[in-house]
Amino acid sequence: MEEKPNPRRPLIVYYIGSLLLIMLFNAIVYPMLIRSRINEVDYSTFLQLVEEGRVREVQLDSVNQQIAFTAIDRAGSEQVYVTGAVPDPDLVNRLLASKSPVRFSGVMPRPHSPLLSFLTNWIVPILIFVGLGQFFSKQMQSRMRNAMAFGKSNARVYVKAQTGKTFADVAGQDEAKEALQEIVDFLHDPERYAEIGATLPKGALLVGPPGTGKTLLAQAVAGEANVPFFSISGSEFVEMFVGLGAAKVRDLFKQATEKAPCIVFIDEIDTIGKKRGDGGFTGNDEREQTLNQLLTEMDGFDSRKGVVLLAATNRPDALDPALLRPGRFDRRIPVELPDLAGRISILEVHAKKVRMAEPIDFAAIARATAGASGADLANIINEAALRAVRMGRKAVQQIDLEESVEVVIAGYQRKNAALSPKERQMVAYHELGHAIVAAKQGHSAPVHKITIVPRTSGALGYTLQIEEADRHLISKEEAFARLVTLTGGRAAEELIFNTVTTGAANDIEQATGIARAMVTRYGMSDRFGMMALETQTNPYLNGNNVLTCSSETAAQVDLEVMKLISKAHETAIAILKDNMEKLHEIATYLLEKETISGEEFLQLLNA
Ligand code: ADP
Ligand code: MG
Ligand code: ZN
Repeated sequence: MEEKPNPRRPLIVYYIGSLLLIMLFNAIVYPMLIRSRINEVDYSTFLQLVEEGRVREVQLDSVNQQIAFTAIDRAGSEQVYVTGAVPDPDLVNRLLASKSPVRFSGVMPRPHSPLLSFLTNWIVPILIFVGLGQFFSKQMQSRMRNAMAFGKSNARVYVKAQTGKTFADVAGQDEAKEALQEIVDFLHDPERYAEIGATLPKGALLVGPPGTGKTLLAQAVAGEANVPFFSISGSEFVEMFVGLGAAKVRDLFKQATEKAPCIVFIDEIDTIGKKRGDGGFTGNDEREQTLNQLLTEMDGFDSRKGVVLLAATNRPDALDPALLRPGRFDRRIPVELPDLAGRISILEVHAKKVRMAEPIDFAAIARATAGASGADLANIINEAALRAVRMGRKAVQQIDLEESVEVVIAGYQRKNAALSPKERQMVAYHELGHAIVAAKQGHSAPVHKITIVPRTSGALGYTLQIEEADRHLISKEEAFARLVTLTGGRAAEELIFNTVTTGAANDIEQATGIARAMVTRYGMSDRFGMMALETQTNPYLNGNNVLTCSSETAAQVDLEVMKLISKAHETAIAILKDNMEKLHEIATYLLEKETISGEEFLQLLNA
């Protein structure tokens, strides 16, 4: 099977064969053709042709009693004719009297010169055969190569020199870089990890909106680690033929294991990793097979050998849960949209590639581009450079950047629904409503981070609270404090803008859930006390709660839930009213910084 057929041998056979064919052609077929192309005419036609001066060459064939001659026909080409030889003493005179000179010869006339006929009889056919031979042998070779490559992945091997990217090319994204740095360290020195017995996660999944630099980060990891880098896009697995995608996966991992330590990067993994079984009748067998093969390979390889799997997606929700199970892509690296500082440094990184007139205020540009991705910012720099050229400038100026913000953001506002300044303000006050209310209550988890950079999840901003320790028991006071915090966002909107927005939908849902559980399951309401009003059907399967009370009681439960929430809401309003100045002050700061840490927040609050 493995033996490669030598393509030279059949080629020689082919050439010898075609030479024989040409000889055969010249010896037998060509004369026959010539003969068939001989026109028989009567003697008077011959004489007429002579008179018209069309005859070129005449041969008197005394053996066959005929005259063979060539003449120019009406179309202007030279033809061969024969005519019966009539005893004609005048013939020679007639020929000499012809308008054009006639040659006499003793051999059968040919329409072409000997050189030409040699060319047409030998050289041209040989050239044609050689050309055809070359053509077919090339085709054969490429077909052979294809046949042998059948099922080979077209994974490209990138090494450092080829991606040429390092972490320095990725601005911002410090958390992602930190997480990836560990992978780089591991690839540099797998033994150090092996000595301790530490195993790295098999796969890390870069998750984030489009254009945030996921592909760039993966390339930077390869550049930093200086190991072979197999990169393939999910869509390349999806083949026309069933089974080919799976074969490609198999081959990719085979190659990778041979080259370990190395990185395998699957970009846009959602194209193969979509949830299985939700395709209905159009269920894509091919994709499913490919995904199954990928899962099998992931289970099969030993990360201690130094194969690190990276993947990127902007649709983590669409991924098959099997891919995210422990032992597969169990590490998730969020790659979020950049905040103000991030945007400034991305602009600076890309500005290095074009000539900038000093001095440029990148911060101003960054402030004008809230919600823009790294790709948008790179685009802005490029648009500015183009504009500078159009304006006949030698370097990019501030005004070019400002104008291109309009161009790029206008385009992207439509697709990303970026926030208007007014909306950003509302989001900022909303989030601070949560944060201040949380901080001013005794039973609330500390605020860790506040951001108004839109998230992958669709949230326009969030306030992250982190408990200091794992919580197993939650007191009634803590549950209520949680309610107050949840209503804090809406409360701030009401106080500042005198209106309410849809931004609180998720808060309301969460608050209702908590309040309801407090009343029906935790016995935390004064009205019902320790009475179970609801049971959970199956806590593991996300089961529904089933009411265990009469419908009159159910109506009262609803009232009780409502009361609880409005009490929380009032508490939140009161807290915010007491801290109005701080709210405005920190909101201004947040609007400028977009993301602030818990410490920054507390410092401002307690200042
Ligand atoms: P993704 O794969 O997340 O959709 P890419 O990695 O393809 O995004 O990024 C597209 C381009 O945007 C990059 O080539 C780079 O020029 C620019 N870019 C995105 N994020 C950054 C960043 N953090 N630093 C520098 N450039 C970035
Ligand atoms: Mg990408
Ligand atoms: Zn909220």
